[in-house]
Formats: sequence, structure tokens, C-alpha cells
Amino acid sequence: AKEQGKDRVVLFENFMAENVIQRIQLEELLRDAITKNEFFLVFQPQIDSTNNSIIGAETLIRWNHPSKGRVSPAQFIPVLESSGLIIKVGYWVFEQSCILLSQWLKQGTWSDTQLIGINVSPQQFNDPNFVETIIEILQQTGAPARCIDIEITEGLLIDNIEDVITKMIQLKSLGIRFSIDDFGTGYSSLSYLKKLPVDVLKIDQSFIRDIPNDEQSIAIVETIVSIAQHLKLKCIAEGVETKEQLDFLTSINCNRIQGYFFSKPLEVDDFIKFINDKKSV
Ligand code: C2E
Ligand code: CA
Ligand code: CA
Ligand code: CA
Repeated sequence: AKEQGKDRVVLFENFMAENVIQRIQLEELLRDAITKNEFFLVFQPQIDSTNNSIIGAETLIRWNHPSKGRVSPAQFIPVLESSGLIIKVGYWVFEQSCILLSQWLKQGTWSDTQLIGINVSPQQFNDPNFVETIIEILQQTGAPARCIDIEITEGLLIDNIEDVITKMIQLKSLGIRFSIDDFGTGYSSLSYLKKLPVDVLKIDQSFIRDIPNDEQSIAIVETIVSIAQHLKLKCIAEGVETKEQLDFLTSINCNRIQGYFFSKPLEVDDFIKFINDKKSV
């Protein structure tokens, strides 16, 4: 039994070492993925279910490594975060989104009433140069601030909330909107909602998944929709995959929908095709 215990320790240590090495290797590969053009963006449409129109799209990053192939964001985003690379990559995502947004507006593909949602991690938001860098990118790309919706998470609100509010007010004065991503999953109190200049609550897909069968999920989603209504915020449901989920959300007047039911995240060409197909209907 003692031998077995020792084996387990060795196994565990190997596993840990392997993990550490994998992480370091991954970090090394990620370090020049930008310059080697291995990242690209996909866009997931957000739909108003009352008339099937496109109200916006969320930008999501993808990584295609020449030999590893597609690596999922669930795997590499945490490494970008722990290494601090998320700041640089986050600005890259922001800039690329703005370049595309400008093009689409010029081409008439997109209209300035439609939003582009961009994820900003707490580390990037807390970068002392965050506000200036965003303003610079908007100026250089010609992307209008009123089309930009920055998705933040509750993790950002745990400390230095005053600083967060100051930055949000600066960006909001330009016309940028703010959404709280994965609303209700973070460890934070609701009291911040009174102080925070946010526009949208995004209902996390973990609450949508078991609808309409799970009573607790139903209660949580109804509550979030009601909070949004009372605070005069918009509300969008994420991870909507089925007609049943859509029907439930319609029945409680939650009409902004993002999820596979309408579309998976799409590469640029397919996204433009999706937009044009909707127009020709
Ligand atoms: P998120 O911001 O909550 O993004 C939504 C995730 O749900 C995306 O996963 C999307 O592909 C997936 N999704 C959308 N609709 C459905 C659906 O109907 N069913 C299911 N099962 N999934 C759906 P993805 O693209 O793998 O991204 C995972 C996470 O990685 C994101 O979660 C976000 O936290 C992070 N991420 C992705 N791109 C960026 C980025 O550019 N910057 C930062 N900071 N984080 C990013
Ligand atoms: Ca998001
Ligand atoms: Ca989310
Ligand atoms: Ca999420």
C-alpha cells in the first residue's frame, strides 16, 4: 500500500510537471502568435427575436497553430491571462474588430445602430493606459464609439470599483456601451449595479442550458430579466440553442438572443453572408 502511495505521488508530480511545461510551451507559442498571424476573429450574431433582425455581434478570438491546429479559447485564454499577454492580445482584438467594423459600415454591410461586442478581461481593463489606448484605436480605425459594446465580467468589480467607474464614465461619454458578461456567475453583490453605468446584462449560458425543464434555472432567468427591467437595463440571453429555450425567453419578454439556435460564431466571410441572407428575406 505504501509503494502504491509513492507511485501516486510520483504520478501526480509528473502530471504537475507536465502541466507546467505545457503551460510554458503554450505561453511561448502564444507570445508570437500575433506577429505570426495565427489569431483570427469570429463573430456571433445577436438577434432581436421579435423581428429576426441582427442587433449586434460578439467578437470571439480563435487560434490556429500551424502544427497544433485549432486550440480552444478555454485552453489558451487562461494562459494569456496568467502571463499578462491578454493585455496585448486584447488590444489586438479590439483593433481588428474596429478595422472590420469600419469596413462593414463603409460597405453598408453594417449599420451604426448595430453593435459589436468586445470582451475585455479585468487585467486589460485595469491597464493604466486602457482609456487612452481605446480612444487611440477608435481614432486610427475610424470606428464609431456608439457601435462598440464592451463586455466586462463581475470579476472586475471585486476591487477598485471607483477606478472602474471612472474609466467607464470616460468611455461612455464617447458613446461606448457596457455589458456585464456571464451575469450572476461571479462572486459579487448586486449593490454595484446601482453605481455602475452599465447598459446590458448578459444572462450566462449555464442558466439557459436546462430551460425549460429545470425550475431553478427558470427562477434565476426570470429574476435576472426582472432586475434588468426594473433597473432599465437591456438584457440578452446567451447560449440559446433550442426552440423551447427561445419560446420560454419570448414568454418572459427577453427578446435579445445569442446562441447556436440562430447562429454559431462565424468567420468573416460567412458572417457577411449571414447578414446579407437576412437582408434579402
Ligand atoms: P464568453 O464571452 O461567455 O463567450 C461565449 C461563448 O459561448 C463562446 O465560446 C461561444 O462560442 C459560446 N457559445 C455561443 N453560443 C452558444 C450556444 O448556443 N451553445 C454553446 N454551448 N456555446 C455557445 P468561445 O468562443 O469558446 O469563448 C470562450 C470564452 O473565451 C468566452 O466566453 C470569453 O470569456 C473568452 N474569450 C473569447 N474571445 C475572447 C477575447 O477576444 N477576449 C477575451 N478577453 N476573452 C475572450
Ligand atoms: Ca462575452
Ligand atoms: Ca458570456
Ligand atoms: Ca462564459
